[in-house]
Amino acid sequence: MTRKWVYLFREGQADWKDLLGGKGAGLAGMTLAGMPVPPGFTITTEACNSYYDNNKSFPEGMWEQALEALKEVERAIERKFGAAENPLLVSVRSGAKFSMPGMMDTILNLGLNDQTVKGLIKATNNERFAYDAYRRFVQMYGNVVLNIHKDKFEHILNEYKQQIGPKAKDTDLTTQQLKEIKDQFKAIVLEEIGTPFPDEPFEQLKGAIEAVFASWNNDRAIVYRRLNKISSALGTAVTVQTMVFGNMGDDSGTGVAFTRDPSTGENVLYGEYLPNAQGEDVVAGIRTPLPIAEMEHDPNFPGVYQQFREIAHRLEAYYKDVQDMEFTIEKGRLFMLQTRTGKRTGPAAVKIAVELVREGVIDEKTALLRIPADDLVQLLLPHVDPESVENNQLLTTGLAGSPGAAVGRVVFTAEEAEERGIAGEAVILVRRETSPEDLRGMVQAQGILTAFGGKTSHAAVVARGMGKCCIVGAGALQIASDESHFLIDGTDIVVEKGEWITLDVDSNEGRVLRGKAKTTAPELSGDFATLMEWTDKYKRLGVLANADTPVDATKAREFGAQGIGLCRTEHMFFDGERILAIREMILADTLVERQKALAKLLPYQKEDFAGIFRAMAGYPVTIRTLDPPLHEFLPHDDEQIQELAQGLGVSVEKIQRRLETLEEANPMLGFRGCRLGIVYPEITEMQARAFFRAAVEVHTEGVEVLPEIMIPLVSDVNELRVQREIVDRVAKEEGVREAGIEYRVGTMIELPRAALLADKIAEIADFFSYGTNDLTQTTFGLSRDDSGKFLPRYVERKVFKDDPFHVLDREGVGQLMQIGVERGRTTRPDLKVGVCGEHGGDPSSVEFCHIIKLNYVSCSPFRVPIARLAAAQAAIGETERDK
Ligand code: PEP
Ligand code: MG
Repeated sequence: MTRKWVYLFREGQADWKDLLGGKGAGLAGMTLAGMPVPPGFTITTEACNSYYDNNKSFPEGMWEQALEALKEVERAIERKFGAAENPLLVSVRSGAKFSMPGMMDTILNLGLNDQTVKGLIKATNNERFAYDAYRRFVQMYGNVVLNIHKDKFEHILNEYKQQIGPKAKDTDLTTQQLKEIKDQFKAIVLEEIGTPFPDEPFEQLKGAIEAVFASWNNDRAIVYRRLNKISSALGTAVTVQTMVFGNMGDDSGTGVAFTRDPSTGENVLYGEYLPNAQGEDVVAGIRTPLPIAEMEHDPNFPGVYQQFREIAHRLEAYYKDVQDMEFTIEKGRLFMLQTRTGKRTGPAAVKIAVELVREGVIDEKTALLRIPADDLVQLLLPHVDPESVENNQLLTTGLAGSPGAAVGRVVFTAEEAEERGIAGEAVILVRRETSPEDLRGMVQAQGILTAFGGKTSHAAVVARGMGKCCIVGAGALQIASDESHFLIDGTDIVVEKGEWITLDVDSNEGRVLRGKAKTTAPELSGDFATLMEWTDKYKRLGVLANADTPVDATKAREFGAQGIGLCRTEHMFFDGERILAIREMILADTLVERQKALAKLLPYQKEDFAGIFRAMAGYPVTIRTLDPPLHEFLPHDDEQIQELAQGLGVSVEKIQRRLETLEEANPMLGFRGCRLGIVYPEITEMQARAFFRAAVEVHTEGVEVLPEIMIPLVSDVNELRVQREIVDRVAKEEGVREAGIEYRVGTMIELPRAALLADKIAEIADFFSYGTNDLTQTTFGLSRDDSGKFLPRYVERKVFKDDPFHVLDREGVGQLMQIGVERGRTTRPDLKVGVCGEHGGDPSSVEFCHIIKLNYVSCSPFRVPIARLAAAQAAIGETERDK
């Protein structure tokens, strides 16, 4: 027996999307539910795949089954395909499992020729309408099936319109003109392909089905699938359906509607309709459609709105999700042509999911799974109004350092950003790249734009921590040497200092716009809070934050962080007098001098740590000892060196000499991390002392404190051992345990060797925290600071699937992590393991952390909600998989 390739709508099921495609399954579902659907049938996706397997010929039996199904349709509608009297016309449409809007082909009004058009005139009593349908069909078929360029047809159409007048529309064409146009279209076909236009309706049908199959592999469809990660193996179904006409007069029309507002999520019918029109007129934007609500009182459509609203409710209740529907009204009668899951914005996704739970339609787990975690960004940060994006000139693009929107005047130095920012001005700090010295300017700027750097460059990491919009690696940006303006390479764009610009950054890309674009502020509605409470019920991973100041720690708590997973203590050194003290420490020649400088830093650090402990009452606070190479703390330009020399009473030469000694060929592989604390144990000692003193002080205030110290860039257990000895000694000296405080000492695992030797390291470490930024850098041998120059090409050309600094590389870096967890826990079964690299806030990476049984992830405060949702989704996904 031959396989069943063809299903009448009534033979299908609403959830057979794999077999019938989204459109075919929707039509089957609506038919079964007794809704008004013009009868038809669907040729399966399997037939499409067979078509390709068979060297582009229909699989055996398919055509015969299609003819059989067509007979059924004829019986149901009491019209005959190809008949001279009251002919049946059909549409032939594509429909894959996942909607690919506009990517594949559609043919309408199929079945018309010089005989059947007469039957249509008689049946409809409308000659103009019939000839319009006929010329549209020849035009569409000529283009889609016979591959004749659109312009050839448009040209003729325009000539006829010109004859009427300069502003003539399609609707102004007379019946006689339409007839002539149709004839001329046919003449073009003959001229272009050398054979006459196929008048035989069955031949037309065959050609149309083949064209839809072929459109599965047109360029647009291939690109769309690649972008949306849709498999090429799925194939498209073909739906053949009785034509209904929305262009048969004032009591006809067509429209599109959503069961809820897809941009806000509000529970109102949302959409538009266009009287006396066919679907493609809406898409082409020839006339402005009317809001759907107006249909309720439109005298041309009595009762239609009520009927449509009722159908919309039933469809949403059946699919348990927002539906996006297409309909046509033919002479006052409503017909449903399509229903599918409606796409929506992040805020709408949250509102809809929470309300559907409240209405008892879905459960909490389903609601959590429905929201793409990254889409929460749209709720958490301001963004540029999409209309503004069109109105403000796009100057250039760069990498998405930190998402959001920022509007301000261009400044080129951190000093100026700081000065003008404090004075209340909105500024955007534009730099070649940023260094820690720029921090104070960054704090005061609305946003940051750099020409160099990748997603884990200093500017990006710091900006994300502050939730501040930032674009990095805008390669075309060239700052004039006198810092009076910037240029965009390859264009004549010049932007002067002081001009307004807008940064607009989503999770993929950053855009620099000219002028002040309109932005919208984040709104953390009640539904958002509800959703976040649900995440806590299901997730297993803890979600902590990377925060360096009491202000950031407070923000992190507001977003639900369950502690601080990484406090980069060096960030505390940049404020006011502190930078002077750290510079004094670096320039010191003797231990005594160094200790003197460190003693100045201690009270500052202690105060900051105390503030963080208070903000994080009852939750762990993990600080990391000094990590970056020391040259990052010293000034590099002459003026600043001079200033420093004066401030500290040392010679310029001395600073320059020190700079030279600190210079390294590979600073990220150099004198940094625990190597600093090993060579200068007094630094670790001061930091531990400040931390423990703060802990004891805040504990005495009655606040629960959970101090944790971690040592960065460890590659060997002995490094950790010597650092731990210092920390334990200081803890004793400060009476930490005596005060009743439990503390832990752990390590970052950010070098491959540390992951491989995790069992040994776990003898000394109470916990591990994966520094996946450095671990990615060192595993790939890829610089996190400047790989932005070429890495995007890798992703574009599919050499790498994703940027490994953004989405954790499960295969390589992930394997090291898995090895590290397993080996570490052989030594210490209760070893706490987390991640604090940027991956801690990326949904796919969070899922991986769940799978390899980490205890927590830690990320920038603004990504905490995203990580919470991703952690819940990973946990729910796992239980669903086990079922
Ligand atoms: C890391 O390397 O992943 C990390 C968290 O540390 P940093 O980014 O400060 O080097
Ligand atoms: Mg690191």
